Amino acid sequence: MKELMRSAQLSDVRQQNYSTIMRELMRSGPTARTDLASAIGMSTGSVTRLTGALVRAGLVREAAEPMTRGMGRPKVPVAIDDSTYGVIGVHFGLHRINTCLIDLRGQLVAELHATERTTNLRPLLRGAARSVRKMIDSHDLTVLGVGASTGGWVDSSSGQVHTQPVLGWQEAPLAEALHDLVGLPVLVDSQVRALALAEHWFGAAAGVDNFIHLFVGNVVGAGFVFNGSPYRGAHSAAGGLDHLPVAGRSGQTCVCGSRRCFAMVAGDLETARRARAAGLITDDQEVYDVFALAVAGNPQARRLLQDRAGVVGTATATLIELLDPELVVIGGGVSAPVDHVSVVRDAAQDRLAARRGGDATARILASAFGPHALGIAAGAIMLDAVYRSPETFVPALTATAS
Ligand SMILES: [Zn+2]
Repeated sequence: MKELMRSAQLSDVRQQNYSTIMRELMRSGPTARTDLASAIGMSTGSVTRLTGALVRAGLVREAAEPMTRGMGRPKVPVAIDDSTYGVIGVHFGLHRINTCLIDLRGQLVAELHATERTTNLRPLLRGAARSVRKMIDSHDLTVLGVGASTGGWVDSSSGQVHTQPVLGWQEAPLAEALHDLVGLPVLVDSQVRALALAEHWFGAAAGVDNFIHLFVGNVVGAGFVFNGSPYRGAHSAAGGLDHLPVAGRSGQTCVCGSRRCFAMVAGDLETARRARAAGLITDDQEVYDVFALAVAGNPQARRLLQDRAGVVGTATATLIELLDPELVVIGGGVSAPVDHVSVVRDAAQDRLAARRGGDATARILASAFGPHALGIAAGAIMLDAVYRSPETFVPALTATAS
């Protein structure tokens, strides 16, 4: 028993060390083993042994160019291997399924957009599985798993979507059902948390361990990364901001009975509704058509989007006061197409300045991804898991460990 426990502990430590090395290489790019050792506080001998196993398993490679700095032997840097493994992300949106294949550095390898008339789970899953299969068949990367995301209340630990109001899903067994169809590990999370993970691993918050991703699109929500890990809350419901009371008033009453709910006042659907009421777009047009008008310089469309960005700014100020992040990343429709993030920033600064005497320390940045990057972000759910626990997803790593 003692022996078993000791071996389990050793394997935990080894797993942790692999994870630390991979995270550091993702963060810093090609790095000499000696520099890697000092960056993570490990002996060069250990780093050499562990990177050897990672190289044999195809997770890390020796970079082509040796680095010569000053005197001594040239150092051969090691880097994340982006040519052996990949992960797939699938995002389920209203009438849209976006499927992306990304490599281990989060770079987009292939992307498929499918338009779906139905919002029913089963036919959508079959469509997604066909896209996943197609990607696996037409690319050389070995796919380690699939990350799937959608809006609403998604429980990553059970793999269930409790509620997805836009698609009308209730208690949908997303992870299990998709796994049955594709035969690969499947992890699910909310699209907002997926976006936060993508920003953390290869986006605007790379290297930042405490930040908020605020998404304002068809749905509204925040993804939190604290101390380098996603914070999901006790019931995977953290960051659901749909009903947060905000400045402004919606033309329609929310299901909860209020007209001041964040999603109702500032979501894409309300923005499109207002644009329709103002005669800017027709009944069959949507929020993207309002963006197009704003880009073309239509003053009414611009004002509409700026007003929305102002509401988002005051809500951002509330989040900053509550959680004191290093950074807030703004994504979704509100960050497109012209720079409304500056309006968000100004509105937040005004609010914070009034309450904090000008001490608004958090930075507010636009998402590194466009509004259509939801598939890439879903891939980040799986990428995050691979980096946290490489041995779980790459069994070759256990076999090659010495
Ligand atoms: Zn409400």
